[in-house]
Amino acid sequence: MRYISTRGQVPPIGFIDAILMGLANDGGLLVPEHIPQVSEETLKQWQQLSYPELALEIFALYVEQEIPREDLKKLVNDSYSTFRHEEVTPVRQLDDSRYVLELFHGPTFAFKDVALQFLGNLYAYVSKRTDSIIHILGATSGDTGASAIEGVRGKDGIRICILHPHQKVSKVQELQMTTVDDANVLNLAVEGTFDDCQRIIKELFADVEFKHKYHLRAINSINIARILAQTVYYFYAYFRLAEKGQAGQVSFSVPTGNFGDIFAGYLAKKMGLPIHKLILATNENNILARFIKEGVYQPGDFKGTYSPSMDIQVASNFERYLFYLYGEQADTVTSLMAQFKAEGRIAIVGDVLKQVQADFAAYSVENEECLNTISDYYEKYDYLLDPHTSCGAAASDKLAQSGETAIVLSTAHPAKFDEAIRLRGIGQTYPEPIQALFEKPQFQTVVGGTNEAIQKQLEAFF
Ligand SMILES: *Cc1c(COP(=O)(O)O)cnc(C)c1O
Repeated sequence: MRYISTRGQVPPIGFIDAILMGLANDGGLLVPEHIPQVSEETLKQWQQLSYPELALEIFALYVEQEIPREDLKKLVNDSYSTFRHEEVTPVRQLDDSRYVLELFHGPTFAFKDVALQFLGNLYAYVSKRTDSIIHILGATSGDTGASAIEGVRGKDGIRICILHPHQKVSKVQELQMTTVDDANVLNLAVEGTFDDCQRIIKELFADVEFKHKYHLRAINSINIARILAQTVYYFYAYFRLAEKGQAGQVSFSVPTGNFGDIFAGYLAKKMGLPIHKLILATNENNILARFIKEGVYQPGDFKGTYSPSMDIQVASNFERYLFYLYGEQADTVTSLMAQFKAEGRIAIVGDVLKQVQADFAAYSVENEECLNTISDYYEKYDYLLDPHTSCGAAASDKLAQSGETAIVLSTAHPAKFDEAIRLRGIGQTYPEPIQALFEKPQFQTVVGGTNEAIQKQLEAFF
């Protein structure tokens, strides 16, 4: 399989080059040259597979001969053996038409582990095969950093540096990152905001000399390997319903920030998985919900919410969807993105908007409604939602029609966001691995928010 850019200016490259490139060199995003089609017959066979077996079949379609099957199998097995649940991503039934797909059984209790455990192992494999060091540099508002560090800690050939805004991530998130004492991990606590961290990273990546000297690699959700890893659980969840004879009209409700997770669902549907509807749930930062309802893609004012991992104004994976929406025309995508840069908005009308509304339904959840939904589900189903999952649940309650079965993607364990849950007087006991974090020493370096300060730290570390 070869990979091309949504802006058409990168000659087709293989899978490994695609994951190393991250953002395409022409500023676009990498997509597979064609989307593999899965027949009904194959879907039936896949229904029998365990999670790692299914992941192997799906990855094999996108990797082809570039990684020998035995090696790929080992990568997959290593990646999912770290999950606490034997099913990796179990499906929980709440009532006749409501299910929750629990994606939080990985090392950091957030769904990002599903992709980053795999990407971490993949980077280690590539480092060994090409006999080169991989330096990962990233910024996080919480979940991605912890998950990326867990994905590569202690691995040969990889060093990782994560910037987070000092004392502006949740306590559990901070502890998850900073209690790691492996020599290949550097935590920089930056005096400033998440936006400062992200700006510094962007500028360091744009410094081509610095980037090449240190072979800098990214871990953010524009990496195509992350999307592919996330398609697997859509298939897996659908099959669990099919086993029960409940796979009539299956919709997925997805708490959305950077459009990565829901794009994986869109890709699964394009591969042939009979998904009825993809429900896009946002919090009050609702640019994507407004786009789907009104056809206008335009950032609004930033709002602080109980679901900080979805507090995003410009969704970095959105361009991949535009590529397919416009019939894989890179020229059109290029001019739309140029227009967005110049005017700060994209507007879509007519048949194209109709297509958007056929692909997705959308709902934006206000802060109060998010907390209400946590209380409701706790009372009604004795099930505790985290505030991100709560947005997905609220959206599915609003939009799922009768006769339809809704699967809500649960993107984080409630213990990660206890601060919000406590507002509703709901107490919870932390799972043992989270409780244990509070006893451990922390390793982090507090630095000023300037490029020079960060660069100095990186040079010493690399
Ligand atoms: C990252 C994250 C999301 C948003 O996922 P996207 O792929 O960016 O849409 C939702 N919930 C949690 C808990 C997350 O960490």
